Amino acid sequence: MDDSQIKDQDLAKLSEEEEAFRSSIVTMDRKGKRKWVFPKKPSGRFTVYRTWVAYILLAFLVVAPFVKLPNGNPIFLFNIPKGEFIIFGFPFFTSDFFLLAIGMITTIVFIVLFTVVYGRIFCGWICPQTIFMEHVFRRIEYWIEGDRPKQMKLAKQDWDEEKIRKRLLKWTVFTLISFFIANIFLAYIIGSDALFDLVKEGPANNMSTFIGLIIFTGLFYFIFAWFREQVCTLVCPYGRLQGVLIDKKTIIVAYDFKRGESTAGRAKFRKGEDRKALGKGDCIDCKQCVVVCPTGIDIRNGTQLECVNCTACIDACDEVMEKINLPKGLIRYASEENIETGKKFKFTGRMLAYTLVLIGMILSINAFLFSRNDVEVKFLHVPGRNYKIEGQNISNVYQYTLYNKTNGDLDIRFEIQSHENGSIRILDGPNDIKLTKGNVQQGVVEVRIPMNDISSYKEPVVMIAVDEDGNLLDEYLTSFSAPY
Ligand code: SF4
Ligand code: SF4
Repeated sequence: MDDSQIKDQDLAKLSEEEEAFRSSIVTMDRKGKRKWVFPKKPSGRFTVYRTWVAYILLAFLVVAPFVKLPNGNPIFLFNIPKGEFIIFGFPFFTSDFFLLAIGMITTIVFIVLFTVVYGRIFCGWICPQTIFMEHVFRRIEYWIEGDRPKQMKLAKQDWDEEKIRKRLLKWTVFTLISFFIANIFLAYIIGSDALFDLVKEGPANNMSTFIGLIIFTGLFYFIFAWFREQVCTLVCPYGRLQGVLIDKKTIIVAYDFKRGESTAGRAKFRKGEDRKALGKGDCIDCKQCVVVCPTGIDIRNGTQLECVNCTACIDACDEVMEKINLPKGLIRYASEENIETGKKFKFTGRMLAYTLVLIGMILSINAFLFSRNDVEVKFLHVPGRNYKIEGQNISNVYQYTLYNKTNGDLDIRFEIQSHENGSIRILDGPNDIKLTKGNVQQGVVEVRIPMNDISSYKEPVVMIAVDEDGNLLDEYLTSFSAPY
């Protein structure tokens, strides 16, 4: 084999190694075995901002199920077994399912829009997985085991007194926090009052709930103590959608390869050297952006599925640039197009279309929310029952459904608003309708109207539900069948 063949082989091998990140996950070896990531503790401007955002969101997450709004409702409640949901203090029942569906679609469109424009900003700044991992569990790990070099040393070290002590302490604190998070999540499901009752009554009296708590504690422990970044790279469907949602105009955490590589490529820093004159890029290949990355990737390889846009590499590189007296921002928030062309961010037609859809959805969900009553009544004809003529009167039979979405119990009676000589008689169901808070009640009524007051074979009739003081709670327009 001659020299040129050897050189070609070396180049091919080098390019294969450089491109390896495209066909593999950094946190796994070729056999699929986990490669543990030991990210260096981040510091810098974005880390400070992100920490503040994380603490505010964490405080909200912990406090929200325990705070009661003036209407007596918590801010959030997702009682799936009972089909009872409270969102920003507004109660939703199964009858409001369409509102929840619109709300969920709006949220999805919102996330899609944000991803198209701002990439994975949600992952890096707002996602609970990132917040708990980077701002709670990772911080505890740094506190107990130290920064990256110390953690790597501890991992390699034998199970001596130091390792046993540190690991036991870490696992205990992780377990306690996981148990705490499981309790907070339970409060979101059953409500804070029910949670306090469970605590008072003790686990022995609520064994099934307690077992559920332990299962969720184990799940959170598994995710944050062991599974970690794999949630983002292997499990999260949102991460998988990135390839479809992100384009060259999307703002992402990006490495300025033009500046970083220049004409002669990246190269180690040498004091007093004129890098520009030598064609060397501003990247000094210090790998600080790599060691700080919680998903273990090298941002200099371009946009990758694993990048959660956490900004840790921006801070790490800025610190390096500051030390070597070069402008910050070699890694920064920018679109691929910004970096390739130097053009500024532009609002595209696709972004405008998404924004309009989003605004339309937010307006309609608000219109539905503010136009709905706390008490809802419906009167539907009982199938197979036609009108009946009784002397000078005609009667129709309806099934009524009453929803009480307030926080109090109500005494309710029905009246006919459109025909003052009409009357309503309860056929099936209690005569005195007492509707407890958050409940639904059904029954059957007979509506009787004098023949002379009817002018159509499908007479429009308005029936109302009023409280014990006669205050109107809700009205329902239905049709009344008659022989005309
Ligand atoms: S931190 Fe900056 S200078 Fe260092 S390797 Fe990363 S991009 Fe290059
Ligand atoms: S590449 Fe940078 S922004 Fe992306 S996950 Fe790693 S450190 Fe965070």
